[in-house]
Amino acid sequence: MSEPTPRPGILEIAPYVPGDSSIPGKARTIKLSSNEGALGPSPAAMRALAETAADIHRYPDGGAAALCEAIGRAHGLDPARIVCGAGSDELITLLVRGYAGPDDEVLTHAHAFVMYRLAGLSVGARVVEAPERDLTADVDALLAAVTPRTRIVFIANPNNPTGTYVPQAELERLRAGLPDDVVLVIDSAYAEYVTRNDYAAGESLVDRGRNTVMTRTFSKIYGLGGVRLGWAYCPEPIADVLHRIRSPFNINAPAQAAGIAAVGDTDFLARSRDHNAAWLPWISERIAAAGFPVTPSVGNFVLVEFAAEEGQNAEAALAHLARYGLIPRAVGGNRLPGHLRITVGLEDEMRTLVEAIEAFAG
Ligand SMILES: *Cc1c(COP(=O)(O)O)cnc(C)c1O
Repeated sequence: MSEPTPRPGILEIAPYVPGDSSIPGKARTIKLSSNEGALGPSPAAMRALAETAADIHRYPDGGAAALCEAIGRAHGLDPARIVCGAGSDELITLLVRGYAGPDDEVLTHAHAFVMYRLAGLSVGARVVEAPERDLTADVDALLAAVTPRTRIVFIANPNNPTGTYVPQAELERLRAGLPDDVVLVIDSAYAEYVTRNDYAAGESLVDRGRNTVMTRTFSKIYGLGGVRLGWAYCPEPIADVLHRIRSPFNINAPAQAAGIAAVGDTDFLARSRDHNAAWLPWISERIAAAGFPVTPSVGNFVLVEFAAEEGQNAEAALAHLARYGLIPRAVGGNRLPGHLRITVGLEDEMRTLVEAIEAFAG
């Protein structure tokens, strides 16, 4: 007897484990496991989505032209070089499929967002993870890991789950040090939250050459993770590749409508940013003061380190927080088994979180 065998690499993929969304036996929970925007979706996006119901027998616009126009207007970018995806996850997968294959190398950093590894393995490529410094992507280590087989480099900026970032000058040094035929993908899923002057999401690097892509998402600050929507800003030849290999109707009509409304709701965006700017430092300081080191984060979440000993470790913390209905994210999949990632939520959620962590510290 023989049976079908998947291509090399496929069985090395550990299936993606999403953040938990419930606790057995708990009716009311506080989900802080997926970095979903604290304020939920923009009211304008909810209205626009509801209005699409009567027309869902129609296929959507395959190129999502109106959405690309709206994104281009909001960000001052050429809409012809914006490609939308069913989440930025889809764009990551398409970029890998477009530029890497068996025996090629996909390069990223040690504790990077896990999708790069999954996408690389799914095409049979070798995934190389350069060491980080202080849980931060290290440009010198990335450049040292480049080989003639490197086809595509992913950097999450800021990174999930660490919350750390690389300043614009360092990103420019990375691009300048990479061979011209290597695609650099800057995943700026949390760009809207970053308040540092030396940070840039990556538009100008895209514009400067023909080999850099910036990806963005509607799943975080815009609160639209449920409709699956992301976009990539690309040089023209890379946009062309993505259009050739994406499925013809990859963005559904409700997602397009919600995205157009969300990107125009600047009040909601400002409120979300202000909320994070207030509560990110508050939880970071209070958790650290309780005795658990917090990696300095510029996103809408914190990475917290727990002790090694039983009773005070990340597993014990997870169980303790569950008693308060709190659901953080275990990040063993990112090789950070001693840590938990916790999303910035609403004020009462953050007060419950800090109270629970202080009680855990004893
Ligand atoms: C959440 C996240 C994404 C994925 O977002 P989707 O658009 O929901 O697929 C991409 N990159 C990073 C770093 C993320 O944290």
